[in-house]
Amino acid sequence: PNKLADKLRGLTIESYIPESWMLQDSDKDSKQLLHLIVVGHVDAGKSTLMGRILHLLGQVTQKEMHKNEKESKQQGKGSFAYAFVLDEGAEERARGVTMRVAVAHFETSKLRVVLLDAPGHKDFVPNMISGASQADSAILVVDASIGAFEAGLEGEGQGRGQTREHAQLVRSLGVEQLIVAVNKLDAVGFSKQRFDVIKNTLQPFLRQCGFKDGYVQWVPVSAAENQNLTTTTTDPALKAWYGGPCLVELVDSLEPPRRLVSRPLRLVIAEVMSSRTLGPSAFGGKLESGAIRIGTKVRVMPSGVVATVKCIEQQGHHLALARAGEGVDVGLHGIDPGMLAPGGVVCHPDYPVPVAIRFEVRLLTLDISTPILKGSQVDLHVHHARLPARVDHLVSLLDPKKGTVLRQCPRRLTANQSAIVEIVPDEGVCIEKYIDFRVLGRVALREGGKTIAVGIVTRVIDTN
Ligand code: GDP
Repeated sequence: PNKLADKLRGLTIESYIPESWMLQDSDKDSKQLLHLIVVGHVDAGKSTLMGRILHLLGQVTQKEMHKNEKESKQQGKGSFAYAFVLDEGAEERARGVTMRVAVAHFETSKLRVVLLDAPGHKDFVPNMISGASQADSAILVVDASIGAFEAGLEGEGQGRGQTREHAQLVRSLGVEQLIVAVNKLDAVGFSKQRFDVIKNTLQPFLRQCGFKDGYVQWVPVSAAENQNLTTTTTDPALKAWYGGPCLVELVDSLEPPRRLVSRPLRLVIAEVMSSRTLGPSAFGGKLESGAIRIGTKVRVMPSGVVATVKCIEQQGHHLALARAGEGVDVGLHGIDPGMLAPGGVVCHPDYPVPVAIRFEVRLLTLDISTPILKGSQVDLHVHHARLPARVDHLVSLLDPKKGTVLRQCPRRLTANQSAIVEIVPDEGVCIEKYIDFRVLGRVALREGGKTIAVGIVTRVIDTN
């Protein structure tokens, strides 16, 4: 009984009384869910690293591995065998199941880890935003080989160091816990000196991005030679100076998010679909709070239409109910499929999410060459919603580190500035203040296919 009281104490909406079935057994699943995104400069070894881990943890069969090896040899890139595990099936695996960006799952001793995909090419950023907006933690992979680490951090233009950009993006979208996997150490003879140089160069930068030292963990690895991934290293050169945990042990030590089971339902639609079992009006998405079961009445925002949960599936298996933290595919009764769209939020009928037509954001501008002005047109990305919007008012320019106001009503925003702005989307969009509901309060602004700013919602000004 005390446990229940504890849960209810955390409730922010006083009048909301969760139904008893929502809370039952909610602790039965002793392994907690953690959504993890892997980021880093192209060719740092992200796919190799994760492919290897999945293989070592038994998520990829020998047969699949053999097929991958054969295919990658045929294409003349033998070393890419592990990378294929992720890249090849990514789209297929993601389609129709849970989330567009989730490509793989593995388990550690304490956690069920959902790996969010972040492809390394130039289309990466929009996917990463979708991914990072669901991520609880991130692994930043850096290439330790001489020249490569530097290239990931420095440079200009197209090939500009993505290590910086990704770290900044992930943090600006609210991810606090980071593991830095210093990869390809085999290429530098597992040199401690090289590891230290990389750590000492990157650490001040991560601090600037807003990562707290206590939440950043560093681990030397070699994905190619399987050193320090799922077991402690066996390489004498590395063993000589590193006795700490391996990568998967560090993942296991990450703090999973609190599951907001007893808060009103928020189920963010990632993808709309139809299937024989789910019916014509169905979608895949993640339960950010609350719970559903078959027969639950829900209000689908932004349309406001009330529907009934007809069917719940998880990776093709039927479920009777699902709770906060889980990714599910849901079939609905009594609603036209046209009312469902990515970025929509399925809510408790009495506690729908605000549909904002004007809101305030605290932004960080990226390396932009064209300034952002009052009236600038942008593509707005919020969780799975993407729509045109206007920067309607530049409220203030902030000191990027202290957050204090430098100037009211600046005329323009240039690269790497922090500011408060008001956004007017072309249509109402489901959002919440970041401090109330993180996932629904992270935004990115893009223009001409490039991300120009990222930030968090500080105020919902007008709603539909
Ligand atoms: P991604 O773009 O970050 O996903 O990088 P990939 O996984 O595709 O790897 C890029 C290249 O680096 C491939 O040729 C890999 O074989 C190579 N690579 C990955 N990990 C290691 C490593 O630990 N050591 C060495 N020497 N090469 C690696």
